[in-house]
Amino acid sequence: MIVVLPGEVAAALPRLADLALPREACGLLVGRTDEESVRITGFAPSRNLAAAPDAFEIDTSLHLVLQRRLRARGEAVVGVWHSHPSGAALPSARDAAGAWQDGLIWLITAGAETTAWVARGGGFVPARLVMA
Ligand SMILES: [Zn+2]
Repeated sequence: MIVVLPGEVAAALPRLADLALPREACGLLVGRTDEESVRITGFAPSRNLAAAPDAFEIDTSLHLVLQRRLRARGEAVVGVWHSHPSGAALPSARDAAGAWQDGLIWLITAGAETTAWVARGGGFVPARLVMA
């Protein structure tokens, strides 16, 4: 799976991660999916509703509002983004436990690095991240 990410979104993610420190930052990725790629067209930052400092929880109301607005444009929420303030840009056990929807793209930012994954079967498969 190839994930195409606009340069301005790619540049914004580490900045948003910094702003959220020491907590995790999170948001929803908007775009279009075809058989072998996902093209990200937008990004919506979310409040992090998780109580634990090393976790994230997307605001469900943001998700619902976005879905409603996007349907008319042929776009959808295609993925989720969050940051790892300490540690690597790799999915954690907690992330795997929270991977609720197969096929959803997960972007993880740690420091300056962002990686892409596809949720599958309660785990993650690496995806190739391409800057547009
Ligand atoms: Zn995580």
